[in-house]
Amino acid sequence: QVKPLYSQLQCYVRGKLEKKYPGKMPKDGTIPAHITGNMWAQDWSALYPLVQPFPGVSGVDVDAALKKQKYTPEKMVRSAEDFYKSLGMPALPASFFERSQLVRPRDRDVVCHASAWDTNLEGDVRIKMCITPTEEDFRTIYHELGHIYYYLAYNNLPPLFQAGAHDGFHEAIGDTVQLNLTPAYLHRIGLAGAPKESEKAVINAQMQLALEKIAFLPFGKLIDEWRWGVFDGSIAPQNYNAAWWQLRQKYQGVSSPIPRSEEDFDPGAKYHVPANTPYMRYFLAHILQFQFQRSLCEAAGFSGPLNECSVYGNKQAGEKFWAMLGKGGSQPWPKTLKELTGSEQMDASAIIDYFAPLKRWLEAQNAGKDCGWQG
Ligand SMILES: [Zn+2]
Repeated sequence: QVKPLYSQLQCYVRGKLEKKYPGKMPKDGTIPAHITGNMWAQDWSALYPLVQPFPGVSGVDVDAALKKQKYTPEKMVRSAEDFYKSLGMPALPASFFERSQLVRPRDRDVVCHASAWDTNLEGDVRIKMCITPTEEDFRTIYHELGHIYYYLAYNNLPPLFQAGAHDGFHEAIGDTVQLNLTPAYLHRIGLAGAPKESEKAVINAQMQLALEKIAFLPFGKLIDEWRWGVFDGSIAPQNYNAAWWQLRQKYQGVSSPIPRSEEDFDPGAKYHVPANTPYMRYFLAHILQFQFQRSLCEAAGFSGPLNECSVYGNKQAGEKFWAMLGKGGSQPWPKTLKELTGSEQMDASAIIDYFAPLKRWLEAQNAGKDCGWQG
């Protein structure tokens, strides 16, 4: 379902890179993996300045607003909490603010990678972050509180059921909420000026999001495809690295910058492989969050383009959301999915809907180009 959109994005980005590095691009239609600005070519956000559809048409500058208004870490967290509360969800417990680590301690080294915890399965919820007043951290807090509100919603279930419906759900909750940080919402909470009704600004914003969320999809799929191949023996030890790069080329349309051999073990450079952390959850979360968002927007009675919907303050959407979260892992996930979306199937039509404006624009830009790659 999502491959056509990914292919359009890959083609457009490749064309821009070719202009920047004339004659240096591989002839097979792939993008060399090391020039996407990310070691795994899983997030192409760093290429935004190069591929920005309408240079000069700037979006919302949340960084500047946070600094100007002297947002403290706690105020940023309160802002995210306010979003969840606006849906009818409870306030965070006082202990959350007493016991969370919101800023980098001055007296010791800590892991600053953001995480969210229910330390006793009874609501002693906390996050661990080193918050600075940036848009990235601001958005990350909304993501982390997704985990926290999931914990709180299923807290009254037996411990074995205190889990996501499947492990893609847990990552998708906060990401769904992040999709609601529209220019209109940011304006409403005082972090942006009145939103411009400009098609160009919409395309720019969609490109920025696509470089993160669409570029990720094939990577998200191939990690476990490679790993399951290793586990079931269809990928033999003497073929580990070659099989890795075959999948990278097939799905991502990227290629290794220099020739690789079985002397190399490139999959090992991805944390989740040596750490034995499942990866399909991230792929599924990327699909699900748009499906969740579409259902919440329907519950809120929103009928415009999906990318413009924010359910901030909508109790009907919040009620459906909270009911789903409260089911935790107590029943098969298709049932839980159906209660929110009306369908037992995970379905990528929502992510396609969401990116419809960008897809139309990319197709027009790529018209007549020789898109696609060997693999
Ligand atoms: Zn997370």
